[in-house]
Amino acid sequence: MSDIKEVSFLANQIIKKYYLCNSCLGRLFSKKLKLSSNRLLGKKLKKNIHTSKKCYICKNLFDNLTPYLDLMLESSSTYGFSSFVVGAMIKPSVIDRDDYLRSKYQLRGIDGVKTDLTRELSKQFAKKTRKILDFLNPDVTFTVNFKDKTCQLRSKQISLQGRYNKIKRGFSQKQKSCENCSGKGCRVCDFHGFTESDSVEAKISKFLFGKFGGTIAKFTWIGGDDKSSLVLGRGRPFFVRIQNPEKRKVKLPKILKTDSVIIHNCKIISDIPKKPLTFRSTIEMKIITENEIQSSNLKKLKKHFANPVVIYENSGKRAEKKIFSVKYKKNSKNKFTLTIIAEGGLPIKRFMIGDNVVPGVSQIIENNCNCDEFDFLEIKMITNN
Ligand SMILES: [Zn+2]
Ligand SMILES: [Zn+2]
Repeated sequence: MSDIKEVSFLANQIIKKYYLCNSCLGRLFSKKLKLSSNRLLGKKLKKNIHTSKKCYICKNLFDNLTPYLDLMLESSSTYGFSSFVVGAMIKPSVIDRDDYLRSKYQLRGIDGVKTDLTRELSKQFAKKTRKILDFLNPDVTFTVNFKDKTCQLRSKQISLQGRYNKIKRGFSQKQKSCENCSGKGCRVCDFHGFTESDSVEAKISKFLFGKFGGTIAKFTWIGGDDKSSLVLGRGRPFFVRIQNPEKRKVKLPKILKTDSVIIHNCKIISDIPKKPLTFRSTIEMKIITENEIQSSNLKKLKKHFANPVVIYENSGKRAEKKIFSVKYKKNSKNKFTLTIIAEGGLPIKRFMIGDNVVPGVSQIIENNCNCDEFDFLEIKMITNN
């Protein structure tokens, strides 16, 4: 018997007992006959049977895909994207019936009903929107839920890098997390993970959410500031990932000024660096001493900082930071300005008072130092490769 005759015979046997829609019937044999359209094959195999019976496997889901397609269109209407993929959640009973028939008639190597459903939806969606189906790296992922007739959309995160200047004192770099969700995102915080807006992080986030939409922005900072610090020069580099962005192709201004923060050179990158980045900071500290400053003691700073400074953490960790340049200027009998270029990550206030940082400035000049203002004049990234 030829393949088509054999298939036709078996198909007839099956639908006599288990009536199937064109898609489900065709799917059982299309691989064997090397045909691409399940629906057309099913139609051909059934010849001209007209019946009001429902499909034993899918209960006619394939004939009623329009509402699901509409759900996909609706959930993606505010998103900018060029590629997509579709996943589905369907009733276990549908899959059970599909498995049952396949094993009863020993039909091997054919697609499951779920695979065919998502393929059919993808095909129709692609046709309607001209978007590209991409299994490997899609911009958005639909999850169509056939059980409760809903559709969820997740959009691939985007990564950016940029720099910022902080031109006003008195607010912190990082944002406190929303107390309700500890930063995960909830209704209280509009899914952004924080509620207040007075930080560098919040200001940059607000700018980026305005451009891209999205929920959470996750930052990687190249070094940290103090509340009182300014960040000058070419600014501090940062990396950020925006989760669930709505827009992907956005023209970003070269520079964005707010009253306290300037964001510049912000651009989309393929991913944020995996390895920790090394950098050097030029830091200017305004120092007040307890006693009158002896100029001879200030001179010792250069000599002592020729060797790395050792930092001891409570955790037992020990780190060394090199200091590449030391400059000082006495301003009055108990005030001086110290400007250093140091390896990134030196804890400035502890370095000043000598709190588990050896040697500290206070120890070297034998005078208790306090520093209520320190500014970053420049932050330079060092490429390690
Ligand atoms: Zn069916
Ligand atoms: Zn929250």
